[in-house]
Amino acid sequence: SAASLGHSVIPIVNKLQDIFAQLGSQSTIELPQVAVVGSQSSGKSSVLEALVGRDFLPRGSDICTRRPLVLQLLKHNSDEEYGEFLHLPEKRFYDFNEIRWEIQAETEREAGGNKGVSDKQIRLKIYSPNVLDITLVDLPGITKVPVGDQPSDIEARIRTMIMSYIKVPSCLILAVTPANSDLANSDALQIAGNADPDGYRTIGVITKVSVKGHQFHPYVDNIISPNCFEVVVFPLFSQLDIMDRGTDARNFLLGKVIPLRLGYVGIVNRNQEDITMNRSIKDALVAEEKFFRNRPVYSDLADRCGVPQLAKKLNQILVQHIKKLLPGLKSRISAGLVSVAKEHASYGEITESKAGMGALLLNILSKYSEAFSSMIEGKNEEMSTS
Ligand code: GDP
Ligand code: MG
Repeated sequence: SAASLGHSVIPIVNKLQDIFAQLGSQSTIELPQVAVVGSQSSGKSSVLEALVGRDFLPRGSDICTRRPLVLQLLKHNSDEEYGEFLHLPEKRFYDFNEIRWEIQAETEREAGGNKGVSDKQIRLKIYSPNVLDITLVDLPGITKVPVGDQPSDIEARIRTMIMSYIKVPSCLILAVTPANSDLANSDALQIAGNADPDGYRTIGVITKVSVKGHQFHPYVDNIISPNCFEVVVFPLFSQLDIMDRGTDARNFLLGKVIPLRLGYVGIVNRNQEDITMNRSIKDALVAEEKFFRNRPVYSDLADRCGVPQLAKKLNQILVQHIKKLLPGLKSRISAGLVSVAKEHASYGEITESKAGMGALLLNILSKYSEAFSSMIEGKNEEMSTS
């Protein structure tokens, strides 16, 4: 779907990444990692999954993410979409449910079966024609009270683990807070604020917007749960009640409670029942769109509501990041061209591979120098997405 990060690629970045990959790995365009932080069950894994547009992460009301999952999306030219784990290099996973089961199994191998947490990474690559080459990190949530096999200092351990990822100055932080909790108490904003005090790389994500004040809207909430009329007795809210009860999430999104330089996006992910019923991510995105469309309280905040808007925001930030890298890339390409030309001269005779390399570099320069310059000069503020 057009909603996911995977599909809303920045075409030029993909082309450049392809070319740099051909030139050797040390000169690729490194996009910043994106990590999700927040309290347990705030919806971090759900947000990542929605961005990727595939169902493959363990999610649930209990502690599910118990090891950091480093998810590397890799664009390739085949139509096949599959996953590969570092710990199982020989195996390609074409079934994304199997990916989830393997994450669960591998979590248990390292962290045991009783809620234990480990800072040992699980590394997963997903190859697809529809993704941007980018790394996303799903992290365990902050918890306060040790349960199961967790040590007494579980909170401190998890905080240290999270910080080790988000203190990296290039890491983009998705700070996830559910709308039905107090933003001023947000673990996500607190830890993101420690790592990024000026807020240049923190995006606020408000999940469970559907829960905050909208839990029992009889006309709209049966979009996800078609049978809910039969099982739920709805309290009768007037329209005003709904507006009132929506105001908190609205104020969060407006930055009135805690301002954030890069702002907030509100999200409606699947609830626990949806997960139990295996509702697809596609249906969830449709339901989310309807949810926001049908609520007047959000009608003037369309640019702050929904997964597609979060993907758009991320893309814009990535474009800004790439813009900063471009002058350096351009001089590296030019330097590369000069050194190839020098080698040509010193050999006297052009070998096949050198000629190929020179032609490639020339091609890059002529093809992209215009795009480079316009990007550097800021003419191409929002590059088109396909
Ligand atoms: P994590 O622990 O932060 O990774 O959270 P998960 O993504 O595993 O979600 C935890 C629970 O919250 C699951 O039962 C989800 O179904 C539920 N959940 C997550 N996001 C939303 C949301 O936007 N709305 C509702 N109603 N439930 C959500
Ligand atoms: Mg999780």
